[in-house]
Amino acid sequence: MRKPIIAGNWKMNKTAEETTQLIKELIPLVSDVDTVDIVVCPPFVNLMAAKQALAGSNIALGAQNMHFEKNGAYTGEISADMLLALGVQYVIIGHSERRQYFGETDQSVNQKTKAALAAGLVPIVCVGELLEERETGITSEIVCKQTKLALLGLSAEQAAGIVLAYEPVWAIGTGKTATAEDANETIGAIRSAVRDVFGDKTADAIRIQYGGSMKPSNASELMAKPEIDGGLIGGAALKAEDFCGIVKY
Ligand code: PEP
Repeated sequence: MRKPIIAGNWKMNKTAEETTQLIKELIPLVSDVDTVDIVVCPPFVNLMAAKQALAGSNIALGAQNMHFEKNGAYTGEISADMLLALGVQYVIIGHSERRQYFGETDQSVNQKTKAALAAGLVPIVCVGELLEERETGITSEIVCKQTKLALLGLSAEQAAGIVLAYEPVWAIGTGKTATAEDANETIGAIRSAVRDVFGDKTADAIRIQYGGSMKPSNASELMAKPEIDGGLIGGAALKAEDFCGIVKY
């Protein structure tokens, strides 16, 4: 059995003070949950405030990005070791907004995934098709290719321990959600791609989330599907009651 994982991607939202406030609201709402891994991913500058606010809770800390080099002349960038030193356990890699606006490629996603694993972080690797790709009927090809390229060079054990997030780009922040059937089918295709490369044990162990306008009202239908092991949540992660509503789907 795969333990579901619900992660909140706060994107470029919340000051340090607001971060502390939101976490303080969230902790009592989800403190009784032990059947789901819960993660919040605030912006880099608020990781310290988040770490302090999360102390002693059942919520883990994640970051939204990292650089693949260990250190050096990369102005404005943050390394995996820096995140680890702050108490970060998870890092989102290759979110579609990073691919769309910041030149992230399958190659950089692969480099970051390997660097995160080498440092001891759990990567949450995002894949997903554009609307044109869905309409052309090539969703599976696109997400399977992204998955295989992201995981290139990993061992079967390493691949089993990462988290994948299937996020159809057209469903992110738009209020449009993939149907539970479509999401289940595409995640099934991603799991088959993992099976092709790494074998049954890894494919059966790897957790694959759905992301894209997930909210309390659609979480239970999505989470009921056998291939869907959790959610990567944007907008609904910014309100404690909404995020709790998804965690307690
Ligand atoms: C996301 O950014 O990963 C996401 C799924 O956003 P939203 O839930 O707002 O669609």
